[in-house]
Amino acid sequence: MSHMFVPGPVDVAPEVLAAQTKPMLPHRSKDFEAIFQRSEAKAKDLFYTNTRIFQASSSGSGMQEAGIRNFVQESVLSCINGSFAQRWYDVAVANGKQADKLEVEMGEAITPDLLRDALKKKHYEAVTIVHNETSTGVENPLADLVKVCQETSPDTLILVDAVSSLGGVKIEFDALGLDFLLTSSQKCLALPPGLSLAAASDRAMKKAESVTNRGWYFDLLLMEKHRLKDSTPMTPAMALIYALDVQLDRIFAEGLEKRFARHAAMSKRVQDWGATHGMEPVAKAAYRSKTVVTMRNSLNWDISALNKFLLTKGMRIANGYGKLKDLSYRVATMGETTLDDVAMLLAAMDEYIKQG
Ligand SMILES: *Cc1c(COP(=O)(O)O)cnc(C)c1O
Repeated sequence: MSHMFVPGPVDVAPEVLAAQTKPMLPHRSKDFEAIFQRSEAKAKDLFYTNTRIFQASSSGSGMQEAGIRNFVQESVLSCINGSFAQRWYDVAVANGKQADKLEVEMGEAITPDLLRDALKKKHYEAVTIVHNETSTGVENPLADLVKVCQETSPDTLILVDAVSSLGGVKIEFDALGLDFLLTSSQKCLALPPGLSLAAASDRAMKKAESVTNRGWYFDLLLMEKHRLKDSTPMTPAMALIYALDVQLDRIFAEGLEKRFARHAAMSKRVQDWGATHGMEPVAKAAYRSKTVVTMRNSLNWDISALNKFLLTKGMRIANGYGKLKDLSYRVATMGETTLDDVAMLLAAMDEYIKQG
């Protein structure tokens, strides 16, 4: 395995890659429907929900669009503290919705007070929140934000992007009372890219019935009709579903709690290492991501030169994203990566520092 410490696509276990080479089946066959049903049942445990999981042939951004088109007729509040939250706003605008921004500087978190003020000023059908902003390594205080939303504007739907955290950090869909929670295959789930998963609440599905122009490909009511028959309206990404089925078994074999603890420990290890070199994450201590450390480039490294060095050892990290390019670098601590892998990376980075 190569060692990609980049926030997606991440390394995929050989047996999961191999699962994709199983023979294709007619998608409306009992054999395939059984696999589809099985992977949904397992995914429900991953999302901590008894509702429903959509398994769609798209990357995560497709589900951002699905959330907007199905659950918002007119007005949405976009919480923005980084590039992926900005993307969700762009998706809303591109779909003709009236989107307002609740925006803070890159590197900051959305706070409950800010959200409360915004929700008091105006009523919204939905609010979009990125749980773990991959561009800055900031984890928003989701439970507190959800509480504020439920207290201040109980009928506003809560749509959450957890593309870079679901499966690496505990997010309990039912217990929190979320309405839509989406992720992609290629990050914490350590699958090849191309599949998105999302949970949707009953009240969100009810709301969708009144929303016009939901489109076709991402019409969740149409998907729901087929989901109830363990199928999809269109041909599913069958090979990816095979891989998901196998990978979810691997995830539960490790144990969710253990998996979450592994991610937290890896991220802490990177942060502690940074501190010994006088480097700090962009995120404040209370809001640091467990799945991607975004470190200030305080030593003014040439990130591409660093990566060239790391590549000679089969490793790779990521440059900062957007405005934070070269000002920061990112070390992903997600998927199948282990503490030993992280130790190996940090040893190589120490070597890079020593050679000057
Ligand atoms: C990667 C990422 C996305 C985009 O996901 P795709 O699967 O590439 O469409 C959206 N949101 C967050 C938080 C991400 O990290």
